[in-house]
Amino acid sequence: MPTFKSAAYLDRYAQSLIGVYGRPKAVLTHGQGCYVWDADGKRYLDLLAGIAVNVLGHGHPIVVEALSRQAGTLIHVSNFFATLPQIELAERLLSVSGAPEGSAVFFANSGTEAIEAAIKLGRRTGRTRMVAAEGAFHGRTIGALALTHKTAYREPFEPLIPSVTHVPLNDAEALRAVIGTDVAALFLEPIQGEAGVVAADPAYLRLARQLTRASGTMLIIDEVQTGVGRTGTWFAFQQAGILPDAITMAKGLGAGVPIGALVTFGPEVSTLLTAGQHGTTFGGNPLAAAVGLAVLDTIETDNLLAHATAMGNHLVDSVAALGHPLISGVRGAGLLRAIELTADVAAVVVDRALAAGFIVNAPTPHVVRLAPPLVVTAAQLDSFVMALPALLRRLGPAS
Ligand SMILES: *Cc1c(COP(=O)(O)O)cnc(C)c1O
Repeated sequence: MPTFKSAAYLDRYAQSLIGVYGRPKAVLTHGQGCYVWDADGKRYLDLLAGIAVNVLGHGHPIVVEALSRQAGTLIHVSNFFATLPQIELAERLLSVSGAPEGSAVFFANSGTEAIEAAIKLGRRTGRTRMVAAEGAFHGRTIGALALTHKTAYREPFEPLIPSVTHVPLNDAEALRAVIGTDVAALFLEPIQGEAGVVAADPAYLRLARQLTRASGTMLIIDEVQTGVGRTGTWFAFQQAGILPDAITMAKGLGAGVPIGALVTFGPEVSTLLTAGQHGTTFGGNPLAAAVGLAVLDTIETDNLLAHATAMGNHLVDSVAALGHPLISGVRGAGLLRAIELTADVAAVVVDRALAAGFIVNAPTPHVVRLAPPLVVTAAQLDSFVMALPALLRRLGPAS
């Protein structure tokens, strides 16, 4: 007899938590590898990884070991003091991001905090105007929210910080028209995850680099979702062959332990924020930093960048082989992917997928997003692809 503990827990959730997330779809109790289980014992293949966060899946022994070892050594010290994990993680981030001599790191606790640090960095140019792309998602705090494009997120909280302009993504002329010597910073995601996995063209990113360099505007690349191996390289900007002035990251960096970072490129940008001008209590504490180091080590030793690329390509091929009339293609790079549908039925597909034991999500009405752990196997991806025809049944005129 099923007991349906989940339903009772969800009632208690609704009675005790602010309803900003709506009613959750399940209550999860534990995970292992790419699987999680709910309170009723049902198993799900986690193809979303906590929205591009659990890069090593669940219960990875190296993450567990790093966490428990550091928890027993030193969890937190305040920024009056330095710790070795913090220094080592900063050095590793500078190395894997290909940052030039004189670059530096600021540690935060989340993506939106990394963006806030970047906004303050931009303000240190003496200019106030910021530019971001239509469709952009940069976070929910008041500064980051001003850069986020979606009206429904912004409007209830206006006025936000002033002087932010949104330009259509991949529109060279619109970018040329807006970037000038009055603009402090241009913020771009290499792939807009929340907008439905929409990529900035490499040529557009290179133009952005040219224009911002010419006008003394900072080019800040938001790698919160795309970074830390997600797209098959350490950072997605590296595939466009540009060197930005700063990048932000968070989601995958701690594999589930909250940590974010701003990396500033080169001595000029890296000395703009001076003692006392920014800070955070928890940012870069040794617990989060030790896990971040373990994550970067594991991505490297287990060749997960190449694996992410191979698995992403495998997914594209498998979905194409289905030849399903409701699927028009697979977008994205590495393991940040959108299965694009020809009808606005993604929400139904996501609900059916959950019932069938697969976790995916629908960032827009015709897109099913996959951002699985970087350790996902071809067989696991195939199990979802094989389920797709059933998940899409009777949802379109042709099926
Ligand atoms: C998730 C996300 C953020 C915000 O990160 P939080 O940790 O939720 O504050 C910012 N930028 C991008 C591109 C994101 O995907």
